Amino acid sequence: MSEPIAGTVIDCLEFARIGGVLVRSVGLDELPRLADQLTTTAGVLSVRVEGWRDAEGKSWLQMDIAGEPVLRCQRCLDGVKFALGIKSRLQLIAPGEEWPDEDLVDDSTDAVNAEKELAVLSLIEDEVLLALPIAPRHEQCDSPLANASGQGSSPFAALAALKAKQSFR
Ligand SMILES: [Zn+2]
Repeated sequence: MSEPIAGTVIDCLEFARIGGVLVRSVGLDELPRLADQLTTTAGVLSVRVEGWRDAEGKSWLQMDIAGEPVLRCQRCLDGVKFALGIKSRLQLIAPGEEWPDEDLVDDSTDAVNAEKELAVLSLIEDEVLLALPIAPRHEQCDSPLANASGQGSSPFAALAALKAKQSFR
């Protein structure tokens, strides 16, 4: 149906000029920079990239990325689902064009170089990495490892508790 996202390259400004739309399913296993933070690379993200030019002649890319990657809980190291819902708007800055004043740009938009050969997959990966929590955690951990430490504090606390027990023998 649709060609794979890997290797898909767009000319940003041209993509915006023609009002291009790209809709893809991206496997989590296609995003190697995410691998460290996931307990599984099974699953997909739905991605939609749309380009357009506004009335002022500015070029834009809208990136919509949704999915539910399973991140590694920093407390019990078990998987914790994270609902990803990225809607980010990127202003494409052509070579020689003036960059927007940071103070005037609202938080929902960002400015990027309008590359002639933009690797879409890499841009998607950037956006996802930015959106992931720094230290993902279950609201309440219920894995055996977390329970062993009493309050589910950390595997190291569990280890310390275990050592303390042994020294009483
Ligand atoms: Zn946990």
